[in-house]
Amino acid sequence: MTAAKTAAADAGFVEFDRVQKSYDGVSLVVKDLNLKIGKGEFLTMLGPSGSGKTTCLMMLAGFETATHGEIKLAGRNINQVPPHKRGIGMVFQNYALFPHMTVGENLAFPLEVRGIAKSDREAKVIRALDMVQMGRFAGRRPAQLSGGQQQRIALARALVFDPELVLMDEPLGALDKQLREHMQFEIKGLHDRLGITVVYVTHDQGEALTMSDRVAVFNDGVIQQLDAPAELYERPKNSFVAQFIGENNKLPGMIEALEGQKALVRLATGELIDATAVNVREKGQQTLVSIRPERVEFKPEMMPAGAHTIGAEVRDVIYMGDILRARLAVAGSDGFVMKMRNTLGQTRLAAGQKIQIGWHPQDARALDPM
Ligand code: ADP
Ligand code: MG
Repeated sequence: MTAAKTAAADAGFVEFDRVQKSYDGVSLVVKDLNLKIGKGEFLTMLGPSGSGKTTCLMMLAGFETATHGEIKLAGRNINQVPPHKRGIGMVFQNYALFPHMTVGENLAFPLEVRGIAKSDREAKVIRALDMVQMGRFAGRRPAQLSGGQQQRIALARALVFDPELVLMDEPLGALDKQLREHMQFEIKGLHDRLGITVVYVTHDQGEALTMSDRVAVFNDGVIQQLDAPAELYERPKNSFVAQFIGENNKLPGMIEALEGQKALVRLATGELIDATAVNVREKGQQTLVSIRPERVEFKPEMMPAGAHTIGAEVRDVIYMGDILRARLAVAGSDGFVMKMRNTLGQTRLAAGQKIQIGWHPQDARALDPM
């Protein structure tokens, strides 16, 4: 995120202040949510199904009411403001276009609801359709369009009344992979060009990492970590985030020594490894050490001086074009993955080969298993 955007985030264009939500009056599906979203920011709520993402978006849109706490937009409490008076555009996974209306009528509808004069509607509709390269389709009905085209119309409809804030709930979930990646690019482009604030919901971590300024990782109605994509990937703050974002090797062990951030971990099989202490506090504590496959080294010259290494046996090596992916047996378990760049002269590894592996301590993170 740029410095300007960081400052905007501090200002809090959208603000959830101690927000809770219960549907049944007993269990909280959103627990004490505190979140400020900056003007012009692209913020993604990422998490598994049932973690409370849609509920948060629905409360912001005004279709659900918070059980406790305040939701603010541009500094104003909007708890009592009805959805159509919040000036928020919305896009859902299932498009929700009106089937009996043409594309043009679908887009004119939100303008009509907002009391925009008929004479002004046409120009706005054309402009919104042009934004999504659908200018020629104003006369068609939704059923005459492909899924990807329908989703573009839904996007245009959310933008047609020039909202400052647009909410998107799994908008690309129904599209195939190639189209989804293309639309991610287009949505990001619209966000940058129009300077709108976007709150985006997805359970797809790749989508969250590629599109967002910041990502709020949800689990069980609680934000586990709120950070820029690179920060989330490189420095997960707990074992949930480490497991949810990207691929990770996990080695269980016990803290043998702790000196500031420097942790020495004894694995269940007895070996010692180096790690960085994240949310572990004391010697003797159980830990899960998490290491990205691309940060594992097996060449001695790549290892930092004095680093502990451990023995591994190569199970298989898969050629994946740009990278090689080796599956290793490490500390009594078979599923340890090491990724290597496929460069000319790359040392070939073969199944059954015994090697020593290690890493820079900053790339191995000692986490509380809970
Ligand atoms: P997500 O979008 O992350 O999948 P949701 O916000 O849809 O999560 O759901 C969070 C929890 O609230 C789930 O346990 C879900 O079953 C429950 N829930 C969602 N909507 C309703 C509703 N209208 N009535 C009762 N429970 C609901
Ligand atoms: Mg949802």
